[in-house]
Amino acid sequence: MSKKFDVVVIGAGPGGYVAAIRCAQLGMKVAVVDEWLHKGEPTLGGTCLNVGCIPSKALLESSHLYAAAKNDLSGHGINIKQVGLDVKAMIARKDKIVSELTQGINGLFKINKIKLVHGHARVSPGKIVDVSDRGSPNTRESLEAEHIIIAAGSSPVRMDRAPLTDGYIYDSAGALEFDSVPRTLGIIGAGAIGLELGSVWSRLGSEVVLLEAMDTLLPTADKQISRAASRSYKQQGIDIRLNARLLSAEIKQKKVHVTYEDTRGAQQIKFDKLVVAVGRKPNSDYLFGDELGLEIDEREYIHVNSYCETSVPGIHAIGDLVRGPMLAHKASEEGIMVAERIAGQQSSVNYDLIPGVIYTHPEVAWVGKSEHACHSAGIPVSIGTFPMAASGRAKAAGTTEGMVKIIAHQETDRILGVHIFAAQASELIAQAVIAMEMGASAEDIAMTMFAHPTLAESVHEAALAVHNRAIHIKN
Ligand code: FAD
Ligand code: AMP
Repeated sequence: MSKKFDVVVIGAGPGGYVAAIRCAQLGMKVAVVDEWLHKGEPTLGGTCLNVGCIPSKALLESSHLYAAAKNDLSGHGINIKQVGLDVKAMIARKDKIVSELTQGINGLFKINKIKLVHGHARVSPGKIVDVSDRGSPNTRESLEAEHIIIAAGSSPVRMDRAPLTDGYIYDSAGALEFDSVPRTLGIIGAGAIGLELGSVWSRLGSEVVLLEAMDTLLPTADKQISRAASRSYKQQGIDIRLNARLLSAEIKQKKVHVTYEDTRGAQQIKFDKLVVAVGRKPNSDYLFGDELGLEIDEREYIHVNSYCETSVPGIHAIGDLVRGPMLAHKASEEGIMVAERIAGQQSSVNYDLIPGVIYTHPEVAWVGKSEHACHSAGIPVSIGTFPMAASGRAKAAGTTEGMVKIIAHQETDRILGVHIFAAQASELIAQAVIAMEMGASAEDIAMTMFAHPTLAESVHEAALAVHNRAIHIKN
């Protein structure tokens, strides 16, 4: 086969593999270069499928069922004498799901006639992608491209103060592989990843402490929602310590001895295991040399415009490697946009409407502006909230914690933001994204019929509440 392609994609995560499929659908000849190895074998799907979105959700689901069986089923009149836990089986189930999905991408590549090249890609001037074996300086093969899409993703930020140490100090990928439940677990960083991993192991029985450097939890979420979430996590026994900055982590007598600083000074605490979840950094190292002329910003993200065009014509960059939230769906939408623009279409991504979700229980989900952001921008707003406790379906399901909050422009009634803390908030938020994409007003949702009884009715009621006419609460 010729080594010339219309498009060469670097990275087979949700940015790269989706971009490649869309390019192929549009009639382009496509190659994908990816270097991910799982137990020595090449595997597709990048961070999201292998050590991110999917395995974390598999363990969140399993741990939720375990906690429900232990704590909630008796309330339904279901008595289980003894609930057992087999962590190895739980991890094996997670691994099976990951392997089925990653193999599914192989199948999709075959159907779409996408050439897959395993190896490390490096972009050279003249739109050449050189592929080498990991760690080797020698080029194994070179691919020539009309267009290059770089979707190399991101890696966990490491901390010199807490170097990864097998058996004791892990990153997020390691925390998806424990073969037993640590009695005590420390997590540095209370972002989405820290909270989700903390939830998994706390539900399975660990005493979990999260140390978070900032003074607020989930600063990008609406404040009313993040306060409600904070209270709930506390009730669940997850100990979140704010203003807590890690100073050192040392392994002594089979424990991780952590020193951190908070507003009262230096504090000490011991854990069986420690997870470092302080964010992720773009994989822009070893991807190209200065001679390429690709601009990188001070945080090592590849610089792109709103169409993901880099400073070099014909080279695009998408996903975790470029500005914006590090989310799989954002990476995929950028991949589709770039493929379609290469094909001459006028596609774009609406960066104002990227939904964010934290898959704790209840889940936190939002899209658009928070109340605080509207106030700061001087935008007059009308707000409607509806508590899940007033939803018949939530009562039936035993998930009455949380609320739906809709923020609309006071004059135009256009929806500016929707914020949910509720069971299945990740599913509920989709209707808000659709409504906002269509430029809906709160009145549009208020006038829509929702099936009864559903959790989604709470979105309807919150929209009614924007105009003080919710039915099932006092306005
Ligand atoms: P990646 O998925 O990182 O893929 C990049 C690929 O490029 C990798 O396969 C890598 O090996 C390859 N690569 C890199 N450099 C080279 C090179 N030079 N040559 C060849 N190949 C290369 N996001 C969500 O939206 N929802 C979630 O629920 C969610 N949960 C998460 C949970 C965890 C624990 C973690 C860690 C992340 C989670 N994320 C979640 C984030 C999500 O995984 C990322 O935003 C997403 O994977 C980014 O996609 P990407 O295609 O940009 O990069
Ligand atoms: P995210 O970027 O959403 O993955 O979240 C990472 C979290 O880690 C953020 O809330 C950071 O404030 C937090 N963080 C970063 N550095 C430290 C540190 N040294 N100690 C504690 N928390 C940190």
